Amino acid sequence: MAASFEVIVVGVGSMGAATCFQLAQRGVRVLGLEQGPLPNPDASFTGATRAIRLSYTEHPDYVPLLSGAYKRWEMLEEACGENLLQLTGALYLGEPEGELVSGARHSAKLHGLPHTLHSHAELRERWPQFQLPESFVGLFENRAGYLYSERAVQAFIDQARKRGADLRAEQKVLNWSATDSCVKVNTESDEFVADQLVITAGAWAGKVVGHLGVPLRVTRQVLGWVNPAEPGQFTADRFPVWVLDGNKGQGVHYGFPITPDGSGGEGLKLALHWPGTDADADTVERGVLPGDERDIHDALERFLPTGRGPLLSQRVCLYTNSPDGHFIVDRHPEHSRVSIACGFSGHGFKFASIMGEVLADLATEGKTDWPIGFLGLSRFEN
Ligand SMILES: Cc1cc2nc3c(=O)[nH]c(=O)nc-3n(C[C@H](O)[C@H](O)[C@H](O)COP(=O)(O)OP(=O)(O)OC[C@H]3O[C@@H](n4cnc5c(N)ncnc54)[C@H](O)[C@@H]3O)c2cc1C
Repeated sequence: MAASFEVIVVGVGSMGAATCFQLAQRGVRVLGLEQGPLPNPDASFTGATRAIRLSYTEHPDYVPLLSGAYKRWEMLEEACGENLLQLTGALYLGEPEGELVSGARHSAKLHGLPHTLHSHAELRERWPQFQLPESFVGLFENRAGYLYSERAVQAFIDQARKRGADLRAEQKVLNWSATDSCVKVNTESDEFVADQLVITAGAWAGKVVGHLGVPLRVTRQVLGWVNPAEPGQFTADRFPVWVLDGNKGQGVHYGFPITPDGSGGEGLKLALHWPGTDADADTVERGVLPGDERDIHDALERFLPTGRGPLLSQRVCLYTNSPDGHFIVDRHPEHSRVSIACGFSGHGFKFASIMGEVLADLATEGKTDWPIGFLGLSRFEN
């Protein structure tokens, strides 16, 4: 006899774990199925930390979602008694009229976000770690920083279980179906029945959701950690999260301070945000390949020479890119009992806490008051 639940969540990663937590908190009987271990080291939140910032330029509705996300990260911290969100401020560096700095400035002004603008000379004085072209300026956003992403997902899992969620590892969902009365989900060993299904399968979404008519491009990304000669220059009290637009339109470099207890990975972390090479989540090379370190050394050489030092480690992680770089969060167009969240395009983690609430709303009420219209599938219709 098939076990019965109110909601089944497929994929207990960033968004799925947050959704299970929210549902369990509402007293909903929720089953979370994860194909790997819990948490899964092949999921897209690994590599210890993720940047969080408010001055989004891409669409005005990201900002209210982010305000909600900050609040819910703090609530998760309270629930688990751990520090998960570290505010260090974020420094946006580039040409004054370039997309990064002018966009951040526009958004900060529009939404009344505390920020300061810095000339090249001021940047050199306050953050001498950087070596910047004379034409560069900087915008410092105060309420930004980083999340301990691996610990945060673990906290969602623990807190969801504590509230009664049934979360199962090594349960790969092979197929699902939806009728007017229920949804059915099959793994290798079991069949589960529920009222509602939420699919949060990350880089596997294209395989799990089925035909949506929207291509999702999975790309292989590499994070790196180096051991700078003077680590004291890069501690969180004097060195913020940073984003630098100096790669001639081929992505932006970004990085983090050295985390106080080393739980952000040993050393100074940096990477290039730019869709890397096309990949398949099941067959991608997760080990380090020759040349993977190039972008990291290049960024250090050109912009952060004080950070140069031996490469301590690298980590491969996957982006799931939607065609326009915006998330896809919606009800399934053909099945009213199915909700989908995917295509987080390399910038979704900071939203996980609020996406959990949005997806729990969709599963229990069929709608949400959060502004997610701009993330709907209808935008791809022509
Ligand atoms: C290198 C890198 C840097 C990033 N930096 C930032 C940043 O600084 N700030 C930021 O906000 N975001 C950042 N992101 C993006 C962010 O991490 C992702 O958008 C987010 O983690 C995606 O969450 P998800 O739930 O969609 O996927 P995941 O967290 O990967 O979860 C999907 C889960 O579904 C499971 N699953 C898949 N198929 C099945 C199946 N058939 N059955 C059962 N389980 C299944 C997977 O195993 C996985 O655990 C970065 C991403 C990468 C890769």
